Amino acid sequence: MGIPTYAPHPVPGLPARVRIYEVGPRDGLQNEAAVVPAEVKVEFIERLVAAGLRTVETTSFVHPRWVPQLADAAEVLARLAPAPGVRFPVLVPNERGLDRALEAGVQEIAVFGSVTETFARKNLNRTVDESLDMFAPVVARAREEGLQVRAYLSMCFGDPWEGSVPVERVVDVAARIMSLGATELSLGDTIGVATPGHVTALITSLTEAGIAADDLAVHFHDTYGQALANTLAALGSGVSTVDAAAGGLGGCPYAKSATGNLSTEDLVWQLHGLGIETGVDLSALVSTSVWMAEQLGRPSPSRVVQALAKELTEV
Ligand code: MG
Repeated sequence: MGIPTYAPHPVPGLPARVRIYEVGPRDGLQNEAAVVPAEVKVEFIERLVAAGLRTVETTSFVHPRWVPQLADAAEVLARLAPAPGVRFPVLVPNERGLDRALEAGVQEIAVFGSVTETFARKNLNRTVDESLDMFAPVVARAREEGLQVRAYLSMCFGDPWEGSVPVERVVDVAARIMSLGATELSLGDTIGVATPGHVTALITSLTEAGIAADDLAVHFHDTYGQALANTLAALGSGVSTVDAAAGGLGGCPYAKSATGNLSTEDLVWQLHGLGIETGVDLSALVSTSVWMAEQLGRPSPSRVVQALAKELTEV
């Protein structure tokens, strides 16, 4: 028995196609308690590609002292089979990380900044200004080398220490990081507190400030159950790149580090229901997340994986 399908019901004004930026292997596994062997990571990434995902953030060249889960970055990249038309971006914190990424032959990197001072201090041990100074040579050299550069901005909708984050502050930091030469900006709701009106207001302000909606991506966490509502608001504001983690990885309900990445399956269910193309085979994706959950020794927190896993195993 296959998974059930239902006729789509399109809504005017939404994009015809959404590019899903899959973050499970990096953002997901980085925030899981278990350390997964390199061969499992490689199989995971290859299964995501086989399921139709065309951008899969693969790993991180952050020092293994900070992210031991991804200490095998170079090995994973070396073992990945080339996949025409698929992008495998990697996270790069600084110039040393860029050196390692270039050695590994990557075509796209991501840098990660914060719009709030407290999180910049805690995550990067720098002020916001200092972190932008650190990114400047990384972005410049990456672009000289012909790489695409995504910039993540954390805490765009609220900060656990500072509370509300003004839209103007996000626009200011976003404009500065784009002026360094970043080619894409991912707006992170790091603690999952955004609601749809806030999403619309921020995207409107960013586009009014001259940042094209085509250069924006949204990165929602489902901590408060708002990720899909926020996604729909972003699509209605012209954004057509959405970050998600297969199986909701990184949102382990049993770990204190739970951050609740939007699950790719939940996203795909909504998009396909809206008649929006993703290129993703939902059945293959759910099977991959069921398999990955077995590797991690705990069930997927994704509602769609939970709903469909049973359909896939019943014959
Ligand atoms: Mg995340």
